[in-house]
Amino acid sequence: MIDELAYSNTEERIRTRHNGAGWIEVIVGSMFSGKSEELIRRLNRAKIARQKVQVFKPKIDDRYAVEEIASHSGMTHISKPVMKAEELLAQIDDDTEVVGIDEGQFFDMELVEATNDLANRGVRVIVAGLDQDYMGKPFEPMPQLLSIAEFITKTHAICVKCGNTANYSQRTFESDARVEVGAHGKYEARCRTCFIPHADKPTAL
Ligand code: ADP
Ligand code: ZN
Repeated sequence: MIDELAYSNTEERIRTRHNGAGWIEVIVGSMFSGKSEELIRRLNRAKIARQKVQVFKPKIDDRYAVEEIASHSGMTHISKPVMKAEELLAQIDDDTEVVGIDEGQFFDMELVEATNDLANRGVRVIVAGLDQDYMGKPFEPMPQLLSIAEFITKTHAICVKCGNTANYSQRTFESDARVEVGAHGKYEARCRTCFIPHADKPTAL
């Protein structure tokens, strides 16, 4: 659920842009919680307001068409795949007003400095990403981004087991690798009660 008050404050800031200052918005939650949908929604609104928008995603995420970000519900937005935060920074045009970044958790730690630089230069930066990995551990660099962001939105999915609010991404296959890209069939949204961290596997998987 979006915090409507916090969100309307964010939208208000878009119109006022005090002293040319930028800011950082972070959208975090589990898989299927609507992070990409929310990011795409904000980017589309910025474009309706005729602001120059640039969108990036890490090259590691090859779930969908390479030149776009996509939500599980089918919303898409054109986006540039980049390997590192440094590469992202190098591609920002001088007149860009809004920068969107999806799958922030797959970037290197330099993303923190890069987003800070952009915000200091007057850019509105919106980063969406997983705040926890498949073990429920903080997924860098999202915790660091949460610390420096002006605005934070936590999105939630629906637990596929019981219908409660889901805050975890349950891996449904065996792997100790932190990064295993995929969605349907590989991960499912679970609540605190139904989530089983990898260490406690495997009975209920
Ligand atoms: P995220 O970027 O957080 O993974 P997306 O924005 O890509 O999320 O997808 C959100 C959409 O996923 C929802 O609007 C809904 O259509 C779909 N969806 C599939 N499974 C679930 C679930 N368990 N809970 C909520 N939404 C789900
Ligand atoms: Zn549950």
